Amino acid sequence: MREAIRLSIENVENGKGGPFAAVIVKDGKIIATGVNEVTSTNDPTAHAEVVAIRNACKSLSSYQLDGCEIYCSCEPCPMCLGAIYWARAAKIYFGTTKEDAAAVDFDDKFIYDEIDLSHTGRKLTTQQLLREEALVAFEKWKISPLKMKY
Ligand SMILES: [Zn+2]
Repeated sequence: MREAIRLSIENVENGKGGPFAAVIVKDGKIIATGVNEVTSTNDPTAHAEVVAIRNACKSLSSYQLDGCEIYCSCEPCPMCLGAIYWARAAKIYFGTTKEDAAAVDFDDKFIYDEIDLSHTGRKLTTQQLLREEALVAFEKWKISPLKMKY
């Protein structure tokens, strides 16, 4: 966690992005780190946790982080929390909270609130289209010999 905190401070000092960092550990060893690179890479998904997951998966040559723990300098936002679940990490540690982040204008609490609402109740207009046509991909997936379950 101290390394995640150190990297988050360094990221502010060098102006690379927001005050966030993440460190991924496997078997007691750091296998990857990530810092927020949203503004320096023009990538709104380049949050520290996502960057760290990408680096860790590359280093492990795997799409899963089995047995890995992720240390986040701040409580993960909904996107990163989702990414950590998809990566199947074993444990999350975090330093500051989403309320601490909101206090310095990184307010992801509203996304957590939106998730609880139905499609029609959300601020971001969400409309379903062409379900029957879109289902074809799932029908093909069900019988695909190339399918890799994950
Ligand atoms: Zn995030």
